[in-house]
Amino acid sequence: MTALVIAEHDNASLKGSTLHTITAAAQCGGDVHVLIAGHNADAAVQAVAKTAGVTKVLVADGAQFADGLAENVAAQALALAAGYSHILAPATAFGKNILPRVAAKLDVAQISEITKVVSADTFERPFYAGNAIATVQSSDATKVITVRTTAFDLPADGGSAAVENVSAVAESGKSSFVSREIATSARPELTAAKVVVSGGRGLGSEESFKILEPLADKLGAAMGASRAAVDAGYVPNDWQVGQTGKVVAPDLYIAVGISGAIQHLAGMKDSKVIVAINKDAEAPIFSVADYGIVGDLFEVVPALVKELG
Ligand SMILES: Cc1cc2nc3c(=O)[nH]c(=O)nc-3n(C[C@H](O)[C@H](O)[C@H](O)COP(=O)(O)OP(=O)(O)OC[C@H]3O[C@@H](n4cnc5c(N)ncnc54)[C@H](O)[C@@H]3O)c2cc1C
Repeated sequence: MTALVIAEHDNASLKGSTLHTITAAAQCGGDVHVLIAGHNADAAVQAVAKTAGVTKVLVADGAQFADGLAENVAAQALALAAGYSHILAPATAFGKNILPRVAAKLDVAQISEITKVVSADTFERPFYAGNAIATVQSSDATKVITVRTTAFDLPADGGSAAVENVSAVAESGKSSFVSREIATSARPELTAAKVVVSGGRGLGSEESFKILEPLADKLGAAMGASRAAVDAGYVPNDWQVGQTGKVVAPDLYIAVGISGAIQHLAGMKDSKVIVAINKDAEAPIFSVADYGIVGDLFEVVPALVKELG
């Protein structure tokens, strides 16, 4: 029994999502191999090779993998699939673009967003926006799985996996890379941050949302938002936390002017400590908060910043 993890990387570095996925793969019970389909991706290969629990790194190198086009990466995974009992990828935009193609071609049911490995064929996954957990058992020969990365710890360093070059599949010709706009921010990446400061409709405007910046600066936090704040144009789309946004589980999540709709809770309720600031004492966010401040955010946030020195 061997699991294949499809690595998410940008050639120069490995994404943390891959590491969490390796932990889930190891829990399936067999060896763990990792596929790096990339171009001149030595740095990513080395990062995987030294991850504890990985027994082999398979490297498919070619210009057709340089930009991670799903058609090419999925074809590469399919070329290797016969030797594997499990094929896993993170439940990120990357993995969600690749694994359904793999599952369809293998004619198996994808098991999406697992949060726990119960045994080699049985997994837990949330549904109804995280309000219920399904235990699913698969009788398919190959388990094709996306992994909710926040549910699995990072593996340790200290591995020394063998690195093996595999023959690269040809360019599919079905898609081509045009351009990429990369958002640059001095703040940590939202899904990897240890502290997240999130704002909601209660902030009132794009201008007022900036009141959260000094708080995020003091705490070295990433900034997030509710969908209402995103839809109102206060902040960019990729800040959205929730069912249809990003799922985060930082050590500390501060929700400011967010009511706590179930779709928002689905993206943050597994945070270790939740602080809510809201002027409505009945707001549902307080039902998941460890600490709550009932008050006007325009008074509470500056006072908090002052207190933090
Ligand atoms: C299919 C579907 C998917 C969805 N996906 C998501 C998702 O991924 N993420 C998400 O967030 N939502 C999502 N939603 C939307 C969700 O249902 C809520 O509408 C949204 O989360 C509300 O955002 P909010 O809490 O910022 O706004 P509101 O619900 O309007 O809450 C604003 C809060 O601010 C407080 N407030 C106002 N002024 C102040 C002040 N001065 N000081 C302190 N507090 C103040 C109010 O008391 C209120 O509680 C989804 C909805 C659907 C139907």
